[in-house]
Amino acid sequence: MIFPSKLIENAVAEFSSLPGIGKKTALRLVLHLLKQPNEEVKKFSSTIFKMRNEIMFCTTCHNISDNAVCSICSNVQRKQHQICVVENFRDVIAIENTQQFNGVYHVLGGVISPIDGIGPDELNIASLISRVENQEVKEIIMALNPTMEGDTTIFYISNHLPNFIITI
Ligand SMILES: [Zn+2]
Repeated sequence: MIFPSKLIENAVAEFSSLPGIGKKTALRLVLHLLKQPNEEVKKFSSTIFKMRNEIMFCTTCHNISDNAVCSICSNVQRKQHQICVVENFRDVIAIENTQQFNGVYHVLGGVISPIDGIGPDELNIASLISRVENQEVKEIIMALNPTMEGDTTIFYISNHLPNFIITI
């Protein structure tokens, strides 16, 4: 694709670096932004930058959060004794959107995968174990993918929480 402007070309290159966005879509988005008032484009870019710059990770469950403790962990209406263990933030978003779960989460940040060099120490497993040991937890629900890595992770966690009933 040849562009009459280096500025447009650069913007198209940025957009097309996003997953699922090809050059044609990128150009359409750039031309759309070009038609918007300056303030709108400024708001758009500053929202993205602010999100990236200010996002935090919950100190309790490791979910993405606007504060040190996320809105789920700090919600007294939710069952703090019921922990749903998930691989990543996308799982939290997916489960939250079903509106069927009223407990809290623990985001591992991945699953054990020796081939990829991911062991238990690379994941948020130690904090899960100390959470279970230090707070009143009645139930742990493992919501991991039924892959070999998911099973290995469940097995590892179960072995470190011997006196615990774990729902898969
Ligand atoms: Zn949290």
